[in-house]
Amino acid sequence: MVVDRRQRYWIRIEGVVQGVGFRPFVHKLAAKHDLHGFARNDGRGLAIEVEGAPAALDAFVAEIRLRAPPLAQVERIEQGRGEPIGHRGFVIADSGTGEERALFVAADAATCAACLCELFDPLDRRYRYPFLNCTDCGPRLTIVEDLPYDRARTTMARFPMCAACRAEYEDPQDRRFHAQPVACPACGPHLVLEQSSGARVLTDDPIVSAVEALTKGRIVAIKGIGGYHLACDARDPGAVSLLRRRKHRPAKPLAVMVPGITVAHALCEIDAQEAKLLASVQRPIVLLRKRNPCGIAEEVAPGIPHLGILLPYTPLHHLIAAEAEGPLVLTSGNRSDEPVTYEDDEARARLGGIADLFLTHDRPIATRCDDSVARIAQGSEMLIRRSRGYAPQPIPLPRPTQSHVLALGGDLKNTFALARGGRAFLSPHIGDLGDALAYRELRRSIEHYSRLLGIRPEIVAHDLHPGYLSVRLASELDAAPVGVQHHHAHAAACMAEHGVAGPVLAVVFDGTGYGTDGAIWGGEFLIAGYDDFERIGHLGYVPLPGGDAAVREPWRAAAAHVIAACGTGSEPAEMLGAQVGEARWRVMERMLGSSAFSVPSSSVGRLFDAVAALIGLRHEVGFEAQAAMELEAVADRLETGCYPVEIAAADGSLVWYPGPIVAGVAADLGRRRPPAEIAGKFHNSVCQAIIETCRAVRRQRGPLPVVLTGGVFQNALLVERAATALDEAGFEVLTHCRVPTNDGGLCLGQAAIACAQARP
Ligand code: ZN
Ligand code: ZN
Ligand code: FE
Repeated sequence: MVVDRRQRYWIRIEGVVQGVGFRPFVHKLAAKHDLHGFARNDGRGLAIEVEGAPAALDAFVAEIRLRAPPLAQVERIEQGRGEPIGHRGFVIADSGTGEERALFVAADAATCAACLCELFDPLDRRYRYPFLNCTDCGPRLTIVEDLPYDRARTTMARFPMCAACRAEYEDPQDRRFHAQPVACPACGPHLVLEQSSGARVLTDDPIVSAVEALTKGRIVAIKGIGGYHLACDARDPGAVSLLRRRKHRPAKPLAVMVPGITVAHALCEIDAQEAKLLASVQRPIVLLRKRNPCGIAEEVAPGIPHLGILLPYTPLHHLIAAEAEGPLVLTSGNRSDEPVTYEDDEARARLGGIADLFLTHDRPIATRCDDSVARIAQGSEMLIRRSRGYAPQPIPLPRPTQSHVLALGGDLKNTFALARGGRAFLSPHIGDLGDALAYRELRRSIEHYSRLLGIRPEIVAHDLHPGYLSVRLASELDAAPVGVQHHHAHAAACMAEHGVAGPVLAVVFDGTGYGTDGAIWGGEFLIAGYDDFERIGHLGYVPLPGGDAAVREPWRAAAAHVIAACGTGSEPAEMLGAQVGEARWRVMERMLGSSAFSVPSSSVGRLFDAVAALIGLRHEVGFEAQAAMELEAVADRLETGCYPVEIAAADGSLVWYPGPIVAGVAADLGRRRPPAEIAGKFHNSVCQAIIETCRAVRRQRGPLPVVLTGGVFQNALLVERAATALDEAGFEVLTHCRVPTNDGGLCLGQAAIACAQARP
């Protein structure tokens, strides 16, 4: 006798499962296993119900776990079983709008291989169509205006699908089944080429004409996925210099887009991991060591041994890169440090004086999203700017709370986080809040993402710096403020991304952070948990001239350190004084003698600046951390020497005195030792100070995992050396990989601390 042993399963999938082709994937899988039921997006993720033979049901669940679509990030699968209720067929139910909002918006994803084949296939109906995409690729975050993710709630709503596109969209066997931004030349967005005056350029092919202009040395604004870029020929020094002048960006490196990995190999030395990162679905700008010569104009990244390279990530960029064949500068469409431009009218107003031509289109950008920047250090990915491709993917928090939390980050490299239910959603890169447009963008973005994610902040976490605009903003919001010390936030960010409970011993080295004693901190050893921290050690205080000038002009930090280490009338002080000029030197001496003009500081970032200036790399910088980057670049990797590292107990904590190192550098300068040797010895000394301090803490407090965080650890040489040495000394070492080690990662730490301290 045959018994019908059909069963019914319900399955709940949480994580990034909406807008990434999960329902079509489930539909195909159900057909394969002869299962009946439905799949539906809702406020918690994806809900599935299926009926069929028990073995088939188990195989179905196993395949969901193993073969989820490429853009999906499954966080959790729950399942249960029940009596069959006679489902017939398999349906994809529409998202109900009245439900609780979906938790996740997917990030934008680079064009997939299948779409790329169509793009360059003359027989395909989407041949050379700059807006093709499918469920595995294309825009997501940057077109979403509201959730749940459906075409009607994206900027594609204004383009009704043609019959052919609709058939693909509705066919469960098709790669474009329920791909919300699906489009073709007959029904989708179109490119236009315009003069900066707004006049249309008559051309059969806007891409061919735009590339022609680029090869003639002109500058073209290109509307991309999360904003406008400015492009020019990367091999043409005249074009690059012109772009720099018009953009008011004298020195900061510019990114270069190449058509494919082969051209990238010709420009830079690339290992297997770097190649993988370049070609990843996130497609960040990857910092790579440039070959010499590489054919790129020196003006692209003056004085820096690295190039920021990216591969095309939308069909439009693929078409441009293929047409141009050679490398193109592709940099954010903005003036100086303003946020990237993304609205058409604004673009014309702000970029009109920079670009000769505009390659633009009629698909609006819902929200701005800059390119991400990454590099490989210690054999793993290190994000320097987490934005397109990554944002707003959530990061799980170690101690969940029911409260809704906003964490405002810092004023430099600002990003913010919205948290609820144990997850922090990090915004794309906003910029430096000192810029009025960036501050406005922060306020606008908080509103946009709060609405999108259904988060109404009850708690707002912020820095302690009394001069920060983000701190002022916190006081204006209708939410309970939680002040978080800057370096505590750095430490918590690294702990949170590794999911560790703490306590840890955090080595936090950066440029500037407001300390609880009113001093400027930046060379901190903290024993940290989420609830609290103890400052167990720090770099010895040196009075540093206050204000932005000290950051822009590293000679000022050099003066402060040399005078503190060697005295005002000393030979090294006289030498530096002669270089900067008598008048400026006298003013500096007076400032350093007065507490009105100088602040005690333990900043390791400024110590790097000081040494870079002393050895003559540069006295002034064109962008933040330029001097420190050059110091890293020039350092002799084979140097084993070290300056004296002096650490002593004082006032209940360990103090690492910078004086002996600075005096050692000065003595080597007097002996005319080469900069490569001095820079190498300096890096070794900083590592030595880290190891010795960690050992001293271990003797007092027992073993703790060591966290390396703060902007100074963007330095790959330093982080590699320090991590290796700590590992050899028996320490467990944690460094950043999912959020930047610089202030771009602060908001995660603030969110983790505020959530841990809130009611559960
Ligand atoms: Zn695709
Ligand atoms: Zn169509
Ligand atoms: Fe910092």
